[in-house]
Amino acid sequence: MKCFNCSAETSNQRYEITICPACEQDLRLFTDETIARQKAEYKPSEKYATYNDEIADRLVFLEKDYLKKKIKLLHVLERLEWLKY
Ligand SMILES: [Zn+2]
Repeated sequence: MKCFNCSAETSNQRYEITICPACEQDLRLFTDETIARQKAEYKPSEKYATYNDEIADRLVFLEKDYLKKKIKLLHVLERLEWLKY
């Protein structure tokens, strides 16, 4: 399999996403200590009762935003193909 980011051959996966160890290192994933501190320091708001709720909602937003942008770009490519003739 190839790393989604740099195309290097790798069998390394994170959450079913193929990513090489070098690119995974570049992500600088939070340590458990950092996550525990952020959870402890989290201040609930009207929108989110817990740190978990906010992170889960941000992931949903990110996926929706990604799909909207993907559709927009695919539409441009489709129209460009059509406008050639
Ligand atoms: Zn990579």
